[in-house]
Amino acid sequence: MEKSFSIPISRRSFMKLAGLAAAGTLLGSGTDDRKAEAAAPPMASVDFSEADLPVWFDVDVCVVGGGAAGTAAAVSAARKGAKTVLVERGITLGGLATQGCVFPCMPTFADGSDTPYIEDLNRRMEAQGSPTQLGFETDTYYGGGKGQYMPEFLTFVYDEMCEEAGVEVLYDAALVGAITDSGKIAACVVQTVEGLAKITAKVFIDATGDALLSRFAGVPAEKGSEKTGRNQPMSLRFEMSGIDVGKVYHFSLQLLKDYEKNVFDKMVEKALREHRPPFIEFAKWKKNEYFFKEGVSSGELTEDDILYIQAFSMTGKPHTMSMNCPEMPPLGFSSTDAVSRSKAVSFGRKMARRLAAFFKANLPGFEEAYISREASMVGVRESWRIRGKYYMEADDYFKARHFPDAVCRTAYPIDIHDVKLDLFEKLKKGQYYEIPYRALVTNEISNLLVAGRCASGSFAAQASFRIQPTCMSMGEAAGIAAAWGIRHGVEANEVRWETLPKNERSYVSEG
Ligand SMILES: Cc1cc2nc3c(=O)[nH]c(=O)nc-3n(C[C@H](O)[C@H](O)[C@H](O)COP(=O)(O)OP(=O)(O)OC[C@H]3O[C@@H](n4cnc5c(N)ncnc54)[C@H](O)[C@@H]3O)c2cc1C
Repeated sequence: MEKSFSIPISRRSFMKLAGLAAAGTLLGSGTDDRKAEAAAPPMASVDFSEADLPVWFDVDVCVVGGGAAGTAAAVSAARKGAKTVLVERGITLGGLATQGCVFPCMPTFADGSDTPYIEDLNRRMEAQGSPTQLGFETDTYYGGGKGQYMPEFLTFVYDEMCEEAGVEVLYDAALVGAITDSGKIAACVVQTVEGLAKITAKVFIDATGDALLSRFAGVPAEKGSEKTGRNQPMSLRFEMSGIDVGKVYHFSLQLLKDYEKNVFDKMVEKALREHRPPFIEFAKWKKNEYFFKEGVSSGELTEDDILYIQAFSMTGKPHTMSMNCPEMPPLGFSSTDAVSRSKAVSFGRKMARRLAAFFKANLPGFEEAYISREASMVGVRESWRIRGKYYMEADDYFKARHFPDAVCRTAYPIDIHDVKLDLFEKLKKGQYYEIPYRALVTNEISNLLVAGRCASGSFAAQASFRIQPTCMSMGEAAGIAAAWGIRHGVEANEVRWETLPKNERSYVSEG
Protein backbone atom coordinates (compact mmCIF):
# COMPACT_ATOMS: atom_id res chain seq x y z
CA MET A 1 0.00 0.00 0.00
CA GLU A 2 1.32 3.40 -0.88
CA LYS A 3 2.23 5.56 2.10
CA SER A 4 -0.01 8.53 2.65
CA PHE A 5 0.56 11.82 4.35
CA SER A 6 -1.91 14.10 6.08
CA ILE A 7 -2.27 17.67 4.85
CA PRO A 8 -0.95 20.21 7.33
CA ILE A 9 -3.53 22.42 8.94
CA SER A 10 -2.83 25.37 11.16
CA ARG A 11 -2.22 24.59 14.78
CA ARG A 12 -4.98 26.93 15.82
CA SER A 13 -7.55 24.85 13.94
CA PHE A 14 -5.92 21.79 15.39
CA MET A 15 -6.22 23.04 18.94
CA LYS A 16 -9.94 23.42 18.37
CA LEU A 17 -10.28 19.98 16.85
CA ALA A 18 -8.29 18.17 19.42
CA GLY A 19 -9.61 20.07 22.42
CA LEU A 20 -6.21 20.31 24.00
CA ALA A 21 -7.16 22.61 26.80
CA ALA A 22 -6.93 20.06 29.57
CA ALA A 23 -3.38 19.11 30.44
CA GLY A 24 -4.69 15.88 31.90
CA THR A 25 -5.69 14.80 28.44
CA LEU A 26 -2.09 14.71 27.36
CA LEU A 27 -0.70 13.36 30.57
CA GLY A 28 -2.83 10.23 30.37
CA SER A 29 -4.07 8.49 33.45
CA GLY A 30 -1.74 5.54 33.18
CA THR A 31 -4.61 3.10 32.75
CA ASP A 32 -4.01 0.09 30.56
CA ASP A 33 -6.51 1.38 28.01
CA ARG A 34 -4.53 4.50 27.41
CA LYS A 35 -1.22 2.70 27.18
CA ALA A 36 -2.75 0.38 24.61
CA GLU A 37 -3.60 3.36 22.42
CA ALA A 38 0.05 4.39 22.30
CA ALA A 39 1.41 0.91 21.57
CA ALA A 40 3.40 0.92 18.36
CA PRO A 41 2.66 -1.89 15.89
CA PRO A 42 5.49 -4.32 15.07
CA MET A 43 7.97 -2.95 12.58
CA ALA A 44 8.63 -4.31 9.10
CA SER A 45 12.12 -5.82 8.98
CA VAL A 46 14.23 -8.44 7.21
CA ASP A 47 15.38 -11.70 8.80
CA PHE A 48 19.15 -11.51 8.52
CA SER A 49 19.84 -14.64 10.58
CA GLU A 50 20.74 -16.76 7.53
CA ALA A 51 22.37 -13.93 5.59
CA ASP A 52 26.02 -14.41 4.77
CA LEU A 53 27.34 -11.04 5.91
CA PRO A 54 30.85 -10.15 7.01
CA VAL A 55 31.37 -9.57 10.74
CA TRP A 56 33.19 -6.28 10.94
CA PHE A 57 33.42 -6.03 14.69
CA ASP A 58 33.15 -8.58 17.45
CA VAL A 59 33.14 -6.54 20.65
CA ASP A 60 31.99 -6.42 24.24
CA VAL A 61 29.64 -3.47 23.78
CA CYS A 62 28.01 -2.13 20.64
CA VAL A 63 26.31 1.24 21.01
CA VAL A 64 23.98 2.35 18.22
CA GLY A 65 23.44 6.10 17.92
CA GLY A 66 26.06 8.69 18.85
CA GLY A 67 23.90 11.41 20.40
CA ALA A 68 24.03 12.74 23.95
CA ALA A 69 23.16 9.31 25.38
CA GLY A 70 25.07 7.06 22.99
CA THR A 71 28.35 8.94 23.16
CA ALA A 72 28.21 8.94 26.95
CA ALA A 73 27.43 5.21 26.90
CA ALA A 74 30.28 4.31 24.58
CA VAL A 75 32.88 6.42 26.38
CA SER A 76 31.78 5.12 29.78
CA ALA A 77 31.80 1.46 28.70
CA ALA A 78 35.24 1.80 27.11
CA ARG A 79 36.62 3.60 30.17
CA LYS A 80 35.56 0.57 32.20
CA GLY A 81 37.61 -1.69 29.95
CA ALA A 82 34.94 -2.88 27.52
CA LYS A 83 35.93 -3.22 23.88
CA THR A 84 33.37 -0.84 22.38
CA VAL A 85 32.10 0.18 18.97
CA LEU A 86 29.82 3.17 18.42
CA VAL A 87 27.70 3.17 15.25
CA GLU A 88 26.51 6.56 13.99
CA ARG A 89 24.64 7.23 10.77
CA GLY A 90 25.95 10.81 10.51
CA ILE A 91 29.53 12.01 10.59
CA THR A 92 29.41 13.84 13.90
CA LEU A 93 28.70 12.71 17.41
CA GLY A 94 26.24 14.74 19.46
CA GLY A 95 23.01 13.87 17.64
CA LEU A 96 20.49 16.65 18.08
CA ALA A 97 23.03 18.91 19.79
CA THR A 98 25.28 18.98 16.74
CA GLN A 99 23.27 17.80 13.73
CA GLY A 100 20.00 19.22 15.03
CA CYS A 101 21.35 22.66 16.12
CA VAL A 102 19.84 22.09 19.60
CA PHE A 103 21.32 24.67 21.95
CA PRO A 104 21.75 25.17 24.88
CA CYS A 105 21.65 22.24 27.31
CA MET A 106 18.64 22.79 29.52
CA PRO A 107 19.11 22.87 33.28
CA THR A 108 17.92 19.91 35.32
CA PHE A 109 16.98 22.33 38.14
CA ALA A 110 18.28 19.64 40.50
CA ASP A 111 21.30 20.34 42.62
CA GLY A 112 23.82 17.52 42.40
CA SER A 113 22.61 16.22 39.04
CA ASP A 114 25.93 16.52 37.26
CA THR A 115 27.37 13.02 36.97
CA PRO A 116 31.14 12.57 36.46
CA TYR A 117 30.82 12.30 32.68
CA ILE A 118 29.08 15.70 32.53
CA GLU A 119 31.69 17.28 34.78
CA ASP A 120 34.43 15.90 32.56
CA LEU A 121 32.66 17.12 29.42
CA ASN A 122 32.33 20.61 30.90
CA ARG A 123 36.02 20.74 31.73
CA ARG A 124 36.95 19.67 28.23
CA MET A 125 34.59 22.16 26.60
CA GLU A 126 36.06 24.96 28.67
CA ALA A 127 39.60 23.89 27.73
CA GLN A 128 38.57 24.29 24.09
CA GLY A 129 37.54 27.86 24.83
CA SER A 130 33.84 27.14 24.88
CA PRO A 131 32.34 28.89 27.88
CA THR A 132 29.97 26.49 29.58
CA GLN A 133 28.37 29.03 31.89
CA LEU A 134 25.26 30.84 30.77
CA GLY A 135 24.80 34.47 31.63
CA PHE A 136 22.10 33.76 34.16
CA GLU A 137 22.16 35.17 37.65
CA THR A 138 24.70 33.38 39.77
CA ASP A 139 22.14 32.40 42.36
CA THR A 140 20.11 30.58 39.74
CA TYR A 141 21.15 26.99 39.96
CA TYR A 142 21.98 25.63 36.57
CA GLY A 143 22.88 21.98 36.87
CA GLY A 144 23.41 19.60 34.04
CA GLY A 145 25.69 20.59 31.26
CA LYS A 146 25.76 24.27 32.14
CA GLY A 147 24.28 25.12 28.84
CA GLN A 148 26.82 26.25 26.37
CA TYR A 149 27.86 23.35 24.21
CA MET A 150 29.03 25.03 21.05
CA PRO A 151 28.31 22.41 18.36
CA GLU A 152 31.61 22.98 16.57
CA PHE A 153 33.52 22.33 19.80
CA LEU A 154 31.33 19.46 20.84
CA THR A 155 32.00 17.37 17.72
CA PHE A 156 35.74 17.72 18.30
CA VAL A 157 35.61 17.02 22.03
CA TYR A 158 33.43 13.94 21.51
CA ASP A 159 35.92 12.55 18.97
CA GLU A 160 38.71 13.22 21.46
CA MET A 161 36.86 11.48 24.31
CA CYS A 162 36.16 8.43 22.17
CA GLU A 163 39.71 8.23 20.94
CA GLU A 164 41.16 8.50 24.44
CA ALA A 165 38.80 5.88 25.82
CA GLY A 166 39.48 3.55 22.88
CA VAL A 167 35.98 3.62 21.37
CA GLU A 168 35.87 2.50 17.74
CA VAL A 169 33.53 5.00 16.06
CA LEU A 170 31.87 3.82 12.86
CA TYR A 171 30.51 6.91 11.13
CA ASP A 172 28.30 6.88 8.11
CA ALA A 173 26.80 3.56 9.10
CA ALA A 174 23.09 3.08 9.63
CA LEU A 175 21.49 0.32 11.62
CA VAL A 176 19.15 -1.70 9.38
CA GLY A 177 18.40 -4.79 11.42
CA ALA A 178 19.06 -7.04 14.37
CA ILE A 179 19.58 -10.76 14.66
CA THR A 180 18.13 -12.19 17.84
CA ASP A 181 18.58 -15.60 19.37
CA SER A 182 17.11 -16.97 22.61
CA GLY A 183 16.13 -13.61 24.05
CA LYS A 184 19.39 -11.92 23.13
CA ILE A 185 20.64 -9.74 20.31
CA ALA A 186 23.34 -11.80 18.59
CA ALA A 187 24.28 -9.14 16.05
CA CYS A 188 23.14 -5.90 14.57
CA VAL A 189 23.29 -5.23 10.85
CA VAL A 190 24.56 -1.94 9.52
CA GLN A 191 24.54 -0.41 6.09
CA THR A 192 27.74 1.27 4.97
CA VAL A 193 29.28 2.48 1.73
CA GLU A 194 30.73 -1.01 1.33
CA GLY A 195 27.37 -2.69 1.80
CA LEU A 196 25.88 -4.56 4.73
CA ALA A 197 27.92 -5.84 7.67
CA LYS A 198 27.31 -7.44 11.04
CA ILE A 199 28.52 -6.34 14.44
CA THR A 200 28.45 -8.96 17.15
CA ALA A 201 28.64 -7.96 20.81
CA LYS A 202 27.99 -9.24 24.29
CA VAL A 203 25.83 -6.21 25.11
CA PHE A 204 24.01 -3.74 22.86
CA ILE A 205 22.95 -0.23 23.78
CA ASP A 206 20.14 1.42 21.85
CA ALA A 207 20.70 5.17 21.81
CA THR A 208 19.05 5.87 18.46
CA GLY A 209 16.45 8.21 19.96
CA ASP A 210 13.83 6.29 17.98
CA ALA A 211 14.27 2.96 19.82
CA LEU A 212 15.18 1.51 16.45
CA LEU A 213 17.42 -1.31 17.67
CA SER A 214 14.90 -2.26 20.35
CA ARG A 215 12.07 -2.38 17.84
CA PHE A 216 14.16 -4.47 15.43
CA ALA A 217 14.71 -6.85 18.35
CA GLY A 218 10.99 -7.07 19.07
CA VAL A 219 10.88 -5.00 22.24
CA PRO A 220 7.43 -3.41 22.76
CA ALA A 221 7.41 0.32 22.10
CA GLU A 222 4.96 3.17 22.38
CA LYS A 223 4.64 6.39 20.46
CA GLY A 224 2.99 9.71 21.07
CA SER A 225 0.43 10.72 23.63
CA GLU A 226 -1.47 7.85 25.23
CA LYS A 227 -4.69 9.74 24.61
CA THR A 228 -4.30 11.47 21.25
CA GLY A 229 -1.66 9.22 19.70
CA ARG A 230 0.06 12.37 18.53
CA ASN A 231 3.80 12.91 18.94
CA GLN A 232 5.39 16.05 20.29
CA PRO A 233 5.89 18.55 17.46
CA MET A 234 9.14 18.52 15.49
CA SER A 235 11.28 21.56 14.74
CA LEU A 236 13.89 22.40 12.16
CA ARG A 237 16.38 24.52 14.02
CA PHE A 238 18.80 26.97 12.49
CA GLU A 239 21.30 29.66 13.46
CA MET A 240 21.50 33.24 12.27
CA SER A 241 24.68 35.33 12.30
CA GLY A 242 25.47 38.97 11.61
CA ILE A 243 23.20 40.00 14.46
CA ASP A 244 23.70 42.99 16.73
CA VAL A 245 22.65 41.00 19.78
CA GLY A 246 22.74 44.01 22.11
CA LYS A 247 20.30 45.87 19.90
CA VAL A 248 17.92 42.88 19.82
CA TYR A 249 18.17 42.73 23.56
CA HIS A 250 17.21 46.33 24.14
CA PHE A 251 14.39 46.09 21.64
CA SER A 252 13.03 43.00 23.42
CA LEU A 253 13.10 44.86 26.68
CA GLN A 254 11.20 47.72 25.14
CA LEU A 255 8.56 45.28 23.92
CA LEU A 256 8.29 43.91 27.39
CA LYS A 257 7.80 47.34 28.81
CA ASP A 258 5.27 48.30 26.15
CA TYR A 259 3.15 45.23 26.27
CA GLU A 260 3.68 43.39 29.52
CA LYS A 261 4.64 45.89 32.19
CA ASN A 262 4.06 43.38 34.93
CA VAL A 263 6.12 40.54 33.56
CA PHE A 264 9.36 42.46 33.51
CA ASP A 265 11.69 39.55 33.88
CA LYS A 266 14.00 39.94 36.88
CA MET A 267 16.85 38.25 35.15
CA VAL A 268 16.70 40.52 32.15
CA GLU A 269 16.26 43.61 34.29
CA LYS A 270 19.38 42.80 36.27
CA ALA A 271 21.42 42.13 33.16
CA LEU A 272 20.29 45.45 31.71
CA ARG A 273 21.27 47.30 34.87
CA GLU A 274 24.73 45.77 34.70
CA HIS A 275 25.13 46.41 30.97
CA ARG A 276 26.72 43.02 30.75
CA PRO A 277 27.24 41.23 27.47
CA PRO A 278 23.85 39.77 26.96
CA PHE A 279 23.00 36.17 27.07
CA ILE A 280 19.51 36.61 25.87
CA GLU A 281 16.67 34.38 25.06
CA PHE A 282 13.70 35.80 23.31
CA ALA A 283 10.52 33.85 23.09
CA LYS A 284 7.20 34.72 21.58
CA TRP A 285 5.67 32.94 24.44
CA LYS A 286 3.93 35.50 26.67
CA LYS A 287 6.27 38.35 25.97
CA ASN A 288 6.69 39.35 22.36
CA GLU A 289 3.47 37.87 21.11
CA TYR A 290 1.97 41.11 19.88
CA PHE A 291 4.98 41.90 17.75
CA PHE A 292 4.87 38.58 15.93
CA LYS A 293 1.12 38.77 15.45
CA GLU A 294 1.67 41.92 13.45
CA GLY A 295 3.78 39.78 11.12
CA VAL A 296 0.77 37.55 10.52
CA SER A 297 -1.46 40.56 9.86
CA SER A 298 1.00 41.90 7.32
CA GLY A 299 1.21 38.52 5.57
CA GLU A 300 4.91 38.08 6.26
CA LEU A 301 4.30 35.18 8.61
CA THR A 302 1.68 32.48 8.99
CA GLU A 303 -0.09 31.48 12.19
CA ASP A 304 1.93 28.28 12.25
CA ASP A 305 5.16 30.30 12.09
CA ILE A 306 4.42 32.19 15.27
CA LEU A 307 3.11 29.47 17.51
CA TYR A 308 6.53 28.80 18.97
CA ILE A 309 9.38 31.24 18.56
CA GLN A 310 12.47 31.15 20.71
CA ALA A 311 16.04 32.24 20.16
CA PHE A 312 19.20 32.13 22.26
CA SER A 313 22.32 34.19 21.91
CA MET A 314 25.42 31.99 21.93
CA THR A 315 28.14 33.02 24.34
CA GLY A 316 31.40 32.29 22.54
CA LYS A 317 29.80 32.61 19.12
CA PRO A 318 29.47 36.37 18.64
CA HIS A 319 26.67 37.95 16.61
CA THR A 320 24.91 34.63 16.37
CA MET A 321 21.62 33.32 17.71
CA SER A 322 20.34 29.78 17.86
CA MET A 323 16.71 29.59 16.77
CA ASN A 324 14.53 27.10 18.58
CA CYS A 325 12.03 27.28 15.74
CA PRO A 326 10.29 26.79 13.41
CA GLU A 327 8.03 24.22 14.96
CA MET A 328 6.08 22.26 12.40
CA PRO A 329 2.31 21.95 13.09
CA PRO A 330 1.86 18.74 15.06
CA LEU A 331 -1.37 17.64 13.45
CA GLY A 332 0.11 17.98 10.00
CA PHE A 333 3.31 16.09 10.70
CA SER A 334 4.27 13.09 12.73
CA SER A 335 7.75 12.01 13.82
CA THR A 336 6.64 8.37 13.68
CA ASP A 337 5.47 8.46 10.07
CA ALA A 338 8.48 8.28 7.77
CA VAL A 339 6.89 10.11 4.83
CA SER A 340 5.39 12.78 7.03
CA ARG A 341 8.67 13.19 8.91
CA SER A 342 10.40 13.76 5.60
CA LYS A 343 7.81 16.25 4.35
CA ALA A 344 8.13 18.16 7.62
CA VAL A 345 11.68 19.05 6.64
CA SER A 346 10.83 21.02 3.50
CA PHE A 347 7.79 22.52 5.20
CA GLY A 348 10.00 23.61 8.11
CA ARG A 349 12.62 25.00 5.78
CA LYS A 350 10.02 27.33 4.23
CA MET A 351 8.93 28.40 7.71
CA ALA A 352 12.55 29.11 8.65
CA ARG A 353 13.02 31.26 5.56
CA ARG A 354 9.90 33.30 6.41
CA LEU A 355 10.98 33.75 10.00
CA ALA A 356 14.49 34.82 9.00
CA ALA A 357 13.13 37.32 6.50
CA PHE A 358 10.70 38.69 9.08
CA PHE A 359 13.42 39.10 11.69
CA LYS A 360 15.66 40.84 9.19
CA ALA A 361 12.96 43.23 8.06
CA ASN A 362 11.42 44.01 11.44
CA LEU A 363 13.63 43.19 14.35
CA PRO A 364 16.22 45.85 15.24
CA GLY A 365 19.61 44.15 15.40
CA PHE A 366 18.84 41.75 12.54
CA GLU A 367 19.45 44.23 9.70
CA GLU A 368 22.59 42.42 8.52
CA ALA A 369 21.58 38.97 9.69
CA TYR A 370 21.65 35.83 7.58
CA ILE A 371 21.05 32.12 8.07
CA SER A 372 24.46 30.73 8.87
CA ARG A 373 23.60 27.16 9.76
CA GLU A 374 20.67 24.84 9.29
CA ALA A 375 20.03 21.56 11.09
CA SER A 376 21.01 18.46 9.16
CA MET A 377 18.75 16.36 11.36
CA VAL A 378 15.08 17.04 11.96
CA GLY A 379 14.36 18.06 15.56
CA VAL A 380 12.40 15.13 16.95
CA ARG A 381 11.39 15.72 20.56
CA GLU A 382 9.63 12.41 20.96
CA SER A 383 8.93 9.44 18.72
CA TRP A 384 9.06 5.85 20.06
CA ARG A 385 9.76 4.93 23.67
CA ILE A 386 10.39 1.42 24.87
CA ARG A 387 8.39 -0.35 27.55
CA GLY A 388 11.08 -1.49 29.89
CA LYS A 389 11.20 -3.22 33.25
CA TYR A 390 10.20 0.06 34.88
CA TYR A 391 7.83 2.48 33.15
CA MET A 392 8.36 6.10 34.14
CA GLU A 393 5.14 8.06 34.56
CA ALA A 394 4.13 11.66 35.21
CA ASP A 395 3.54 10.67 38.81
CA ASP A 396 7.22 9.90 39.26
CA TYR A 397 7.79 13.57 38.57
CA PHE A 398 4.86 14.91 40.58
CA LYS A 399 5.64 12.73 43.59
CA ALA A 400 9.40 13.37 43.27
CA ARG A 401 10.08 9.63 43.50
CA HIS A 402 13.49 8.31 44.43
CA PHE A 403 14.72 4.79 43.70
CA PRO A 404 17.47 2.62 45.18
CA ASP A 405 18.66 1.78 41.64
CA ALA A 406 18.55 5.43 40.45
CA VAL A 407 21.05 6.38 37.75
CA CYS A 408 20.43 10.13 37.81
CA ARG A 409 18.18 12.89 39.11
CA THR A 410 16.32 15.76 37.49
CA ALA A 411 13.63 18.31 38.23
CA TYR A 412 13.19 19.48 34.67
CA PRO A 413 9.47 20.13 34.18
CA ILE A 414 7.10 18.16 32.00
CA ASP A 415 7.67 20.09 28.82
CA ILE A 416 5.01 19.20 26.28
CA HIS A 417 4.88 21.70 23.47
CA ASP A 418 1.32 22.86 22.68
CA VAL A 419 0.49 22.85 26.36
CA LYS A 420 1.43 25.79 28.52
CA LEU A 421 3.96 24.82 31.10
CA ASP A 422 2.07 26.60 33.82
CA LEU A 423 -0.71 24.03 33.47
CA PHE A 424 1.60 21.56 35.13
CA GLU A 425 2.51 21.80 38.73
CA LYS A 426 6.26 22.12 39.04
CA LEU A 427 8.39 20.54 41.72
CA LYS A 428 9.34 22.85 44.54
CA LYS A 429 12.90 24.12 44.73
CA GLY A 430 15.09 21.37 46.17
CA GLN A 431 12.79 18.56 45.04
CA TYR A 432 13.75 16.19 42.27
CA TYR A 433 12.86 12.76 40.96
CA GLU A 434 15.18 9.97 39.91
CA ILE A 435 15.38 7.59 36.98
CA PRO A 436 15.77 3.94 37.92
CA TYR A 437 18.14 1.60 36.10
CA ARG A 438 15.13 -0.61 35.35
CA ALA A 439 13.85 2.06 32.94
CA LEU A 440 16.89 1.28 30.75
CA VAL A 441 16.41 -2.48 30.44
CA THR A 442 13.73 -4.74 29.02
CA ASN A 443 12.06 -8.02 29.92
CA GLU A 444 12.38 -9.36 26.39
CA ILE A 445 16.07 -8.96 25.53
CA SER A 446 18.58 -9.69 28.25
CA ASN A 447 21.66 -8.09 26.67
CA LEU A 448 20.04 -4.77 25.70
CA LEU A 449 20.16 -1.38 27.38
CA VAL A 450 18.23 1.64 26.12
CA ALA A 451 19.34 5.16 26.93
CA GLY A 452 18.26 8.69 26.06
CA ARG A 453 14.97 10.02 24.88
CA CYS A 454 13.68 6.56 23.88
CA ALA A 455 14.05 5.06 27.38
CA SER A 456 11.03 3.52 29.07
CA GLY A 457 8.33 5.97 30.03
CA SER A 458 5.01 7.57 29.22
CA PHE A 459 4.56 10.51 26.90
CA ALA A 460 4.52 12.94 29.82
CA ALA A 461 7.43 11.36 31.68
CA GLN A 462 9.56 11.50 28.53
CA ALA A 463 8.70 15.19 28.20
CA SER A 464 10.80 15.71 31.32
CA PHE A 465 13.64 13.18 30.99
CA ARG A 466 14.34 14.00 27.32
CA ILE A 467 16.71 16.91 27.96
CA GLN A 468 20.37 16.46 27.11
CA PRO A 469 22.03 16.26 30.54
CA THR A 470 19.59 13.57 31.66
CA CYS A 471 20.14 11.64 28.43
CA MET A 472 23.90 11.87 29.02
CA SER A 473 23.63 10.56 32.58
CA MET A 474 21.42 7.68 31.43
CA GLY A 475 23.96 6.81 28.74
CA GLU A 476 26.82 7.01 31.21
CA ALA A 477 25.09 4.56 33.56
CA ALA A 478 24.20 2.24 30.68
CA GLY A 479 27.86 2.08 29.60
CA ILE A 480 29.08 1.44 33.13
CA ALA A 481 26.48 -1.25 33.77
CA ALA A 482 27.17 -2.97 30.45
CA ALA A 483 30.88 -3.23 31.22
CA TRP A 484 30.24 -4.29 34.82
CA GLY A 485 27.78 -7.00 33.78
CA ILE A 486 30.24 -8.42 31.27
CA ARG A 487 33.06 -8.48 33.86
CA HIS A 488 30.84 -10.19 36.42
CA GLY A 489 28.88 -12.49 34.13
CA VAL A 490 25.53 -10.80 34.81
CA GLU A 491 23.03 -10.13 32.04
CA ALA A 492 22.40 -6.43 31.46
CA ASN A 493 18.73 -6.75 32.39
CA GLU A 494 19.64 -8.61 35.58
CA VAL A 495 22.23 -6.09 36.78
CA ARG A 496 21.12 -4.51 40.02
CA TRP A 497 22.62 -1.04 39.89
CA GLU A 498 22.20 -0.54 43.63
CA THR A 499 24.52 -3.50 44.30
CA LEU A 500 27.44 -2.12 42.30
CA PRO A 501 30.15 -0.75 44.59
CA LYS A 502 29.52 2.97 45.14
CA ASN A 503 32.78 3.94 43.49
CA GLU A 504 31.72 2.09 40.33
CA ARG A 505 28.47 3.99 40.04
CA SER A 506 28.15 7.37 38.31
CA TYR A 507 25.24 8.18 40.59
CA VAL A 508 24.21 6.91 44.00
CA SER A 509 20.73 7.66 45.29
CA GLU A 510 20.53 9.39 48.64
CA GLY A 511 17.21 7.65 49.21
C1 LIG B 1 13.80 21.11 18.61
C2 LIG B 1 14.35 20.58 19.89
C3 LIG B 1 14.80 21.46 20.84
C4 LIG B 1 15.35 20.98 22.03
N1 LIG B 1 15.85 21.86 22.92
C5 LIG B 1 16.59 21.39 23.95
C6 LIG B 1 17.33 22.28 24.74
O1 LIG B 1 17.30 23.48 24.54
N2 LIG B 1 18.11 21.75 25.73
C7 LIG B 1 18.17 20.40 25.99
O2 LIG B 1 18.90 20.00 26.89
N3 LIG B 1 17.45 19.55 25.25
C8 LIG B 1 16.69 20.00 24.23
N4 LIG B 1 16.00 19.13 23.44
C9 LIG B 1 15.99 17.69 23.80
C10 LIG B 1 17.31 17.00 23.49
O3 LIG B 1 18.00 17.65 22.45
C11 LIG B 1 17.13 15.54 23.06
O4 LIG B 1 16.07 14.92 23.70
C12 LIG B 1 18.41 14.77 23.36
O5 LIG B 1 19.47 15.38 22.67
C13 LIG B 1 18.25 13.33 22.94
O6 LIG B 1 19.50 12.68 23.00
P1 LIG B 1 19.62 11.19 22.49
O7 LIG B 1 21.05 10.81 22.58
O8 LIG B 1 18.62 10.33 23.17
O9 LIG B 1 19.13 11.23 20.96
P2 LIG B 1 19.69 12.02 19.71
O10 LIG B 1 20.39 13.27 20.08
O11 LIG B 1 18.52 12.11 18.78
O12 LIG B 1 20.78 11.03 19.10
C14 LIG B 1 20.45 9.87 18.41
C15 LIG B 1 21.62 9.51 17.52
O13 LIG B 1 21.37 8.25 16.91
C16 LIG B 1 21.72 8.31 15.56
N5 LIG B 1 20.92 7.31 14.84
C17 LIG B 1 19.58 7.28 14.73
N6 LIG B 1 19.21 6.24 13.97
C18 LIG B 1 20.34 5.59 13.63
C19 LIG B 1 20.61 4.45 12.84
N7 LIG B 1 19.63 3.76 12.24
N8 LIG B 1 21.89 4.06 12.68
C20 LIG B 1 22.90 4.75 13.26
N9 LIG B 1 22.70 5.85 13.99
C21 LIG B 1 21.44 6.27 14.18
C22 LIG B 1 21.40 9.74 15.14
O14 LIG B 1 22.10 10.14 13.98
C23 LIG B 1 21.84 10.51 16.40
O15 LIG B 1 23.18 10.88 16.33
C24 LIG B 1 15.44 19.57 22.25
C25 LIG B 1 14.98 18.68 21.28
C26 LIG B 1 14.45 19.17 20.11
C27 LIG B 1 14.01 18.21 19.06
